[in-house]
Amino acid sequence: MQNKLFINGRFVDALAGGTIDVLNPHDGSRITAIAAAEAADVDAAVDAARRAFPAWSRMAAAERGRLLLKLADAIEAHTEELAQLESLDTGHPIRDSRALDVPRTAACFRYFGGMADKLQGSVIPVEAGFLNYVQRAPIGVVGQIVPWNFPLMFTSWKMGPALAAGNTVVIKPSELTPLSSLRIAELMAEVGFPAGVVNMVPGYGHTAGQRLAEHPGVGKIAFTGSTATGRRIVAASQGNLKRVQLELGGKGANIVFDDADLDAAINGAAWAIFHNQGQACIAGSRLVLHERIADAFLERFGALAASIRLGNPLDPETEMGPLTSAQHRDKVLSYAGVAREQGGRVLTGGKAPALAGLEKGYYVEPTIVEAKPHDRVAQEEVFGPFVTVLRFGSDDEALAIANATEYGLGSGLWTRDLSRAHKLAHSIDAGMCWINCYKRVNPGSPFGGVGQSGYGREMGFEAMHDYTEARSVWVNVDATVPPHFKR
Ligand code: NAD
Repeated sequence: MQNKLFINGRFVDALAGGTIDVLNPHDGSRITAIAAAEAADVDAAVDAARRAFPAWSRMAAAERGRLLLKLADAIEAHTEELAQLESLDTGHPIRDSRALDVPRTAACFRYFGGMADKLQGSVIPVEAGFLNYVQRAPIGVVGQIVPWNFPLMFTSWKMGPALAAGNTVVIKPSELTPLSSLRIAELMAEVGFPAGVVNMVPGYGHTAGQRLAEHPGVGKIAFTGSTATGRRIVAASQGNLKRVQLELGGKGANIVFDDADLDAAINGAAWAIFHNQGQACIAGSRLVLHERIADAFLERFGALAASIRLGNPLDPETEMGPLTSAQHRDKVLSYAGVAREQGGRVLTGGKAPALAGLEKGYYVEPTIVEAKPHDRVAQEEVFGPFVTVLRFGSDDEALAIANATEYGLGSGLWTRDLSRAHKLAHSIDAGMCWINCYKRVNPGSPFGGVGQSGYGREMGFEAMHDYTEARSVWVNVDATVPPHFKR
């Protein structure tokens, strides 16, 4: 198991020799200790990335793409190993790591591998006699900071487009879940990525992350994490006015109308909040129910939630694993009290499960609370298996509730009325809306938020463009330009 920093093509200890214990969320045991990058290590990584940039950015785009495609193949060839590592480190149920995390990671690298030589500039129709063309040039060294909830997948979301566009990368995985990312670094070295093109510096946010965000040699910082840290990243980036891309928190409204296919909506709503133990920025954490169907819906939804199989993430029967850290588990559990303090009702869960074998793990029962739209549990991101139910009577009221938070990332609606569906999809303030489905992602479809959920987009051409600068070149082909200063 790789546990060192990856700088300039080599795995090395941190210069100051510090380490961070990596814990198994199933029982709190220590899996390993990883080298903890600090500012000096980040500086070395940025230096390596700067040295690698000229050759990497000048390499034929198809060659860069070929390396990304080889990486995608290598990831698929190591599916079981990567799935085990991800589940061990994060608590993702192994069935999800096998079926979702690893295939999606490979698919994303493959998508951007294929796109590397499809990124085109343009020719602008300007005045006669001039040729104006626009090139998409890489930015340079890109800093990337990712959280702990989907560490494997986020390596591909972040590095895929950045590398395809010709940038070199310094990426900081979360100090809590660095293991699958470090394995990806090994695979990148094996398939032939040149030294320095990718550097990986796991470490704490306030040291390694902070240095990366403020480093004058970094041209762009791409961040996924909480809104509070996002603000710190913006402040740290000011020194060299680096470009910033922010994928932050969310409080997704998932609206069920009274004409919806209830079987699909009930299962979809459970997937929206309980997949990955609710640790997803796009989770449908506000379940907004039409008052005519709310009681019947909640009876079946509650029964489904209570029947979800909690267990060791490495057991293929497990449907929900532990949360990723003890501290986070405690935060999520505290929200049952927050709901009650404001008059909310806990309908299901709200506590750790009393199940044999799970006592030492960071488990939380699937939790359903009913509250009012402006209560804290309807406004703050809990980031766990915790859904807040709100009721509405009209389409206008549903829309008002959906838009009544500072966030704007994922949203969903369930209805058989097509025009209502499209009208609302355009009116909800969110980067993504799912109609009669939830949490669909694809490497081709832009992913990101509005408001306090951040700015910039991952995936698709949007992401590639976000990792380039548009350079405009003017050529006087055969124009006669009258002199401004007649002498
Ligand atoms: P976090 O903000 O605490 O940490 C995210 C990353 O930032 C970690 O690598 C951490 O070490 C680093 N960091 C912390 N302080 C820093 C600092 N001062 N300077 C630089 N880096 C710093 O978030 P988290 O708890 O790891 O992740 C959960 C959050 O991520 C949730 O809010 C969730 O909604 C959000 N998230 C957003 C998306 C999205 O695409 N919008 C996706 C997944 C998660």
